Amino acid sequence: MQSIQAFFPQLAQPKKVIITCHQKPDGDAMGSSLGLYHFLVQLGHSVTVISPTNWADFLNWMPGVDTVVDYEANKAAAQRLIDACEVLFCLDFNILHRTKHLEQPLTNAKCTKILIDHHQQPQVEAFDFGVSDTTKSSTCEMVYDFIMASGYADKISREVATCLYTGTMTDTGSFRFPSTSANVHRMVAHFKDLGLEHAAIHSNIFDSSLENKLRFTGHALLNRLEVFYEYNTALMYITKYDLRKFDIKTGDTEGLVSYLLSIQGIRFGAIVIDRDEERKWSFRSKGNFDVNTFARTHFEGGGHFNAAGGRSSDSLENTLHHFKQILPQYQAQLQ
Ligand code: 5GP
Ligand code: MN
Repeated sequence: MQSIQAFFPQLAQPKKVIITCHQKPDGDAMGSSLGLYHFLVQLGHSVTVISPTNWADFLNWMPGVDTVVDYEANKAAAQRLIDACEVLFCLDFNILHRTKHLEQPLTNAKCTKILIDHHQQPQVEAFDFGVSDTTKSSTCEMVYDFIMASGYADKISREVATCLYTGTMTDTGSFRFPSTSANVHRMVAHFKDLGLEHAAIHSNIFDSSLENKLRFTGHALLNRLEVFYEYNTALMYITKYDLRKFDIKTGDTEGLVSYLLSIQGIRFGAIVIDRDEERKWSFRSKGNFDVNTFARTHFEGGGHFNAAGGRSSDSLENTLHHFKQILPQYQAQLQ
C-alpha cells in the first residue's frame, strides 16, 4: 500500500469512482462516505456510494443519502458499477470481510483500491494507496485531512461539512472520547465558518427515536443487565424475543452499550444481540483494557482499543456462558 499522497495527482482527471464502507454503516461510515462523495462530485468525478447492507433510519436525513446503493437490495446494479469502476475508496473498515457479501466482488474488482481508516491491524496488501491511523477520532476526520492535503480545500461545501461533522460527532461520543484532538476542534471551527448547523445535526441523530425504542432501552436496562463488580464489568444481552416484541430495526440498538460504562467504576461493557445469522457483540472499555485484542482472541472480531465488535455462531446461552467463563482471566487487567 503506497501513501495516500501518491494518489493525489489522479484527483485531477475525472474518473468512475465507488465509495464503500463497512456493513450496517454507522454515522462515521456513512458520514465519511457521503462527505467524500460530495467532494469528489465537485471535482468532476462520476461517484456512487455503495453500502454493503442497509443502515439506520436516523441517518436518512443526510445530504446525498438518497443516492446510496444498498448492495443487498440491488446486487445486479451494484455489480455493474463495480465492473465499470476505476477507483474504489474503502472507508471506516480495513479488512474486506467487514463488507459481508461485498467481499468477493471487491476482491475481484480490478480497479485502484484506496483505504482511509482508523481501525487496528489493516489488511494493507488489499489496497494500492491508503492511510491507516489509529490515533484519529474518526474516518470523517481523516477524509477532512485528505481533502485539506489534496490542495482542494475550497471544495469543502456545506454538504461536505455536514457529513464529516456527523461522523466525527458520533465516533467521538459527541466530542468526549480521548481521541477528540485539537485537530478535531479546529476542523469543527472551520465547518462553523462555512455555516455548519451543528444543533440541527445533533437533533437529527439523537431526537428521532420512536417511542418503542425508548421503551426497549428501559426493558434492556431493567431486565437484561448483569453487573460483575469483581471484574468492573457490565454485560447486557438482547434476545430474539426482545427484538420482535419492540419491533427493533437496524440502528435501534446503537448507543445501548454506552450505558454500561456510565455505571460508576465499570471499565468494561459488553453487549450481545441475538441476530438471526449470528450473535453480534459490542465491546467498550475505559482506560487501558484492550477490547480490540479481547474481541480478536475470543469472538472473531476487532476494532479499536476502547471500542470493538465481534460475533459468535453459537447459541445466545452458550455465548453468554463462554463470556462469563473467560472473564476471570482478565481480573488483574480489569482492576
Ligand atoms: P460497534 O460495537 O459499534 O458495532 O463496533 C465498535 C467498533 O468495532 C467499530 O469501529 C466497528 O467498526 C468495529 N467492529 C465491530 N464489529 C467488528 C468485527 O466483527 N470485526 C472488526 N474487525 N471490527 C468490528
Ligand atoms: Mn469510525
